[in-house]
Amino acid sequence: MAKSYDVIVIGAGPGGYIAAIRAAQNGMRVACIDAWRNRDGKHAFGGTCLNAGCIPSKALLESSELVHRARHEFSKHGITVSGLEVDVGAMQKRKATIVRQLTGGIAGLFKANKVEGLVGRGRLLADRKVEFTPESGEPEVLEARYVILASGSSPIELPVAPFDGEAIVDSWGALEFDEVPRRLGVIGAGIIGLELGSVWSRLGAEVVILEALDELLPAADRDIAKEAEKQFRRQGLTIHLGAKVTGARRTDKGVVVEYSGRDGAQTLEVDRLVVAVGRRPYTDGLLAEDCGIRLDERGFIPVDDGCRTRVKGVYAIGDCVRGPMLAHKASEEGVMAADLIAGEVAEVNYAVVPSVIYTAPEIAWVGKTEREVQESGRAYKTGSFPFVANGRAKALEQTAGMVKVVSAADDDEILGVHILGPMAGELIAEAVLAMEFSASTEDLQRTIHAHPTLAEALHEASLAADKRALNYPN
Ligand code: FAD
Ligand code: NAD
Repeated sequence: MAKSYDVIVIGAGPGGYIAAIRAAQNGMRVACIDAWRNRDGKHAFGGTCLNAGCIPSKALLESSELVHRARHEFSKHGITVSGLEVDVGAMQKRKATIVRQLTGGIAGLFKANKVEGLVGRGRLLADRKVEFTPESGEPEVLEARYVILASGSSPIELPVAPFDGEAIVDSWGALEFDEVPRRLGVIGAGIIGLELGSVWSRLGAEVVILEALDELLPAADRDIAKEAEKQFRRQGLTIHLGAKVTGARRTDKGVVVEYSGRDGAQTLEVDRLVVAVGRRPYTDGLLAEDCGIRLDERGFIPVDDGCRTRVKGVYAIGDCVRGPMLAHKASEEGVMAADLIAGEVAEVNYAVVPSVIYTAPEIAWVGKTEREVQESGRAYKTGSFPFVANGRAKALEQTAGMVKVVSAADDDEILGVHILGPMAGELIAEAVLAMEFSASTEDLQRTIHAHPTLAEALHEASLAADKRALNYPN
């Protein structure tokens, strides 16, 4: 007889593993099937985020930022550093340890919550049956009352610059370099291009980024994006906007990239090339012909606001469905799906999903940009406060950037908060909470912020929206 579960989750990234744990907390009998393979061929839970995305990239961003500070900022504190050396191998080892601890933690969480972790591939069949193919062994058919699909995404490959896993790599490859390339080319000045470009630039590579669009970070507020661009260029990143890559070929020295830019046809010679032009939903082998689900034209699994697919009892969450490809969005959808399955009221407030780019300065935002509010036709006001006038930022010697608040002119509701500056990714949490509770600008103005903290910049920006900033001229 087929093994049966209340819930089968396919995929154990931040969407799937969280969904599995929440479903088990809700009293369900749960299995979570996952097929991730690391470079050493070993399985680990955690999907892209823990193994090849959020966590390893942040580990290297921290290490490389320390190198940058030691080289360029310590002297301002009166600290002289001599004989500074970078051991990329040791950095990679530290990164691997963090990844191992966190992915191993998921296995522990599964055990504690009685989630059955199954290593191998899952395929949705008709009638909420799932074919499970273990790494070695015969496929078996499992039955479930509910299925949650959480198969994630994979990097987009450019036909003109196909990955070769060595000199032309995706983001995972760029996280694994065992030495600092002398010249690194990056195609795409999106989140990955800027984060990983920053890592290798701080460690000493000459980094050139080719971006097809004419502006940087189109999803960010313009004031923030323009200032960020200035900072990145000042740090030594070369960014060519309006650059269309037409080819990339291997040579014995590295890679020659051909592109057409503002000055016509150009070539760029680099040791290694990272292609970071976005990700696409990954659903290879996930859906049997007769399972009842058809992908949309962009390859996503179609779902409603509750992440329900058109097949009753089958949900889909995370990068394989519409919306921003972010770990926290995937996790919140996992919680929602598990709670809906348990008959609870649950929703994801897609209007307040924060975005963070972990460059230095960091970039973080939530809600609408000024341009989006303008286009909506709603009357609005804005307030900005620069970190150069913030005591804590001065003490940190990190004064670049600002906080910008966009609020409704009529009822004072906060519509968007945009931050470029130190710890922006941490600071945005207050704005997310405020907006989750539909706070007004006045609510923020009347909230006491400890002194001296970076958070005071958000307080002051909210005051500035009414021309009442106290520590900067209005
Ligand atoms: P995934 O994490 O991709 O997990 C899907 C899992 O399903 C994988 O383990 C896969 O092997 C498995 N799977 C797929 N098909 C099957 C099948 N048929 N059977 C069994 N298993 C299957 N997001 C952030 O929010 N913050 C960040 O700082 C951040 N940094 C990033 C840095 C990089 C370099 C990259 C590449 C991404 C980053 N992201 C970040 C994005 C984030 O990693 C994704 O949004 C997130 O991992 C999506 O989670 P998921 O659960 O939907 O999918
Ligand atoms: P992205 O969408 O952020 O950026 C891709 C960039 O490549 C865009 O600016 C695009 O205009 C450009 N581009 C596309 N085709 C091009 C071409 N042919 N030539 C030159 N430029 C081209 O995608 P990404 O940086 O690859 O990251 C993928 C996703 O992973 C992100 O969208 C995000 O959801 C997630 N991610 C998140 C974080 C984070 O939250 N901090 C970090 C890394 C990745």
